[in-house]
Amino acid sequence: MINNLLLILLFAVFTACSDPEPQTISLENGSLTAFTGANVLPMTDEVVLENQTVIIQDGRISVIGDTGEVEIPDGAEVIDATGKYLMPGLAEMHGHVPGPNNRQYAKDVLFLYISNGVTTVRNMAGHPYHLELRDRVDNGELAGPMLFAASPWLSPNNISEPAEAEDVVRGYKEAGFDLMKIGSISLESYRAMAEVAHEIDLPFAGHIPEEVGLVNALEARQASIDHLDRYVEFLVADNPEAESVSPGFFGSGVIDYVDEERIDEAIRLTIEAGTWNVPTLSLVEHLESPESPEDMIRWPEMRYMPQSVLDGWVESKHNFQARDDFQPDAARKLVELRQKLTKELHDAGALIALGSDAPQFFNVPGFSIHHELRMMVDTGLTPYEVLVTGTRNAGIYFDMADEFGTLEEGRQADIIVLNANPFNDIEHVRNQYGVMVRGVWWSRDVITQRLEEIAARNSR
Ligand SMILES: [Zn+2]
Repeated sequence: MINNLLLILLFAVFTACSDPEPQTISLENGSLTAFTGANVLPMTDEVVLENQTVIIQDGRISVIGDTGEVEIPDGAEVIDATGKYLMPGLAEMHGHVPGPNNRQYAKDVLFLYISNGVTTVRNMAGHPYHLELRDRVDNGELAGPMLFAASPWLSPNNISEPAEAEDVVRGYKEAGFDLMKIGSISLESYRAMAEVAHEIDLPFAGHIPEEVGLVNALEARQASIDHLDRYVEFLVADNPEAESVSPGFFGSGVIDYVDEERIDEAIRLTIEAGTWNVPTLSLVEHLESPESPEDMIRWPEMRYMPQSVLDGWVESKHNFQARDDFQPDAARKLVELRQKLTKELHDAGALIALGSDAPQFFNVPGFSIHHELRMMVDTGLTPYEVLVTGTRNAGIYFDMADEFGTLEEGRQADIIVLNANPFNDIEHVRNQYGVMVRGVWWSRDVITQRLEEIAARNSR
């Protein structure tokens, strides 16, 4: 049913249509930059390196060293970062960039991500158009985060029987997708898909189809489970009473049958499989919260979204709150269980990456990452631990830890400059002085100006 809801939302998104004029970003001011006097959070450890000079050359961090000892090259643009904090750009590991029917909106979404320091997005709503966007961001033609593109959602529409899996998987690999998005296919189709995917090295991630379940997905080494999908069903698996009840929305229908003693087993199997979790806590919390959707679309960041998208969100929250299996008690229990699972998976050493599912369900791209960071801290993780899930872990997930995710010499210059130390309070991540995206510096003033343009496009 989430599938249908997504289609409705996507349809809503595609209705307001306009075509864009191409934008080109000058890479000139990104060619040589020096931040001086900065506190650097390398995110390799919970340390703050004080009074550092960081030299950026051709989009990469070339030198990090003590201010006064590092020579500033001729022609460098110097940014005084005294008293500021430099941290790696954040990754939105469950993003939904819009499709080609509203190209201006898609581009605005890319900018909204970077306006808040999201410099990497694993895009989970697949369309061949995203391959084009990915390449245009890559060559500096479009302002946006580094994109990883998932295939279209796998469902009986593209794999209706196991024999079709091989061609479909090879086709997505050939088209250039970075991963496949799992939706709702049969167990036999899933197994056939997984076999080919491993053979040609195309990861698969996202949901777990109901028929597949947690254990089979872990056995097939699904790259990531998003939204903590099918954990609740696993936790009720030895309860015969639960068998006749539909699991509903992320297990909310069977939440009363959960046996928390099975959590340890779920965690053990997850770690053994090496499968990541992208909890997207915002997803369920935004639908469950007592705040009315009409009030939620008055949050300040909503002015950057098209009205049609906001209307879809309001409708979705009303629909969810009307469901028999999503009444306040069940929904609250589900939220609490998801917090507990996130904390226990993390503390046991399971792999966790940050994702807020933007733009879906009141998650405005970029802005929603701050909601998710807050919710992750509310599970009991420290701000540092939560920031690891959104920085270093993204590099590790993509097997690109020597490219991005930390602030070290040689890494891509994806940097958020903060006015205060985020290790003391996660809310400080919102307090940004500027963002550098692969060497291109976006000061707060320039970001604000672009945001105003987006708001004007969506003014109502
Ligand atoms: Zn999704």
